[in-house]
Amino acid sequence: MKKYHLLAPGPTPIPPEVLQATGRPILHHRTPEFEALFGRVRAGLAELIETRGEVIVLAASGTGALEAAVVNLCSPGDEVLVVRCGKFGERWSDIARAFGVTVHAIDAPYGDTVAPERVEAALTAHPGARALFVTQSETSTGVLEDVEAYAALTRRTDTLCVVDTVSSLGVVPCPMDAWGIDVVVAGSQKGLMCPPGLAFVALNDRAWRAAEQARCPRFYWDLPTERRWQARHQGQFTPAVSLLAGLDVALGLIRAEGLPDVYRRHDRLARAARAGAEALGLALFARATPSPAVTAIVAPPGVDGEAVVRAYGLEHNITIAGGQGEMKGKLFRLAHLGWVDESDLVVGLAALERVLARLGVPVELGAAVAAAQRIFAKEG
Ligand SMILES: *Cc1c(COP(=O)(O)O)cnc(C)c1O
Repeated sequence: MKKYHLLAPGPTPIPPEVLQATGRPILHHRTPEFEALFGRVRAGLAELIETRGEVIVLAASGTGALEAAVVNLCSPGDEVLVVRCGKFGERWSDIARAFGVTVHAIDAPYGDTVAPERVEAALTAHPGARALFVTQSETSTGVLEDVEAYAALTRRTDTLCVVDTVSSLGVVPCPMDAWGIDVVVAGSQKGLMCPPGLAFVALNDRAWRAAEQARCPRFYWDLPTERRWQARHQGQFTPAVSLLAGLDVALGLIRAEGLPDVYRRHDRLARAARAGAEALGLALFARATPSPAVTAIVAPPGVDGEAVVRAYGLEHNITIAGGQGEMKGKLFRLAHLGWVDESDLVVGLAALERVLARLGVPVELGAAVAAAQRIFAKEG
């Protein structure tokens, strides 16, 4: 018997209280009880995103909200800028191109990030750009982008700053209004400790004005129409009521722990994960600022990253993630976001020692765990 551990960067484990709430009898969506729940959840999300703008809740995976942002801000033929240093940055440009929007990519190699000076140069070179699309935590490479700096640069232009926080909301601060971000996009299944299936788009006034004028085709994703419904605590169509019941409880757990402590916990887990990997002589994939959501580790010489992922599953009943796209086989990713604590990380690192030893990598058993424990003990 081996207990199951989910240490992938989404979906993430769900606290029992949240799971239980999703199993309650169905709340009909045209009742006062549902309206109270929906109002509470939208207010809780706005608190987390730190915005006075409105948060629209959609029934979709995170990518649905990325698409909703694109089609509500852009018209075919528009030019946009996209910061790309991994698969999720690339997703922004794939979606924009699918709707006939012209993309000017600002690329950095995987593992790196784009310096704000390059974003500044792109904004100057393309003054008509409708939006700058960025990804706060680039989950595919484990890198954190400097969203605060990017957003500050867009403040001097007519270009909207749109941020994918799917793997960073509830993990690392992204104060939308204070940083001058126009649109924040997120999803339920990562830092928010809920099942997959809900996605969120928060827009400020500048973004709402753009949404009234954008001409990309849309029906289900028509945010100005949805806004009128959600202002009355209803959805135009049937909302994912069971997931919303779970999210209501999850937001309560985040509030009870306290947002500063939630951020501190993620930072501590991420530092311990990095220290553990390095104690085994492994290299981190991120050369730029590492994300507190996930640690991408370079597969040691002669070892296939996919074999590490398989061994975690087969021998330890732990799900981690491999590399995406061209990174497949070259790295593996240990996630520490959402409902994850110190003991979960110790389990993940202890298994890493055993997995590597089994794959013939010379490791000192206990070295990764000791490195993590030193960080946890020091900060009690
Ligand atoms: C997980 C993720 C998404 C969305 O993926 P879905 O599978 O559509 O939920 C988008 N951006 C980032 C940064 C992610 O980590």
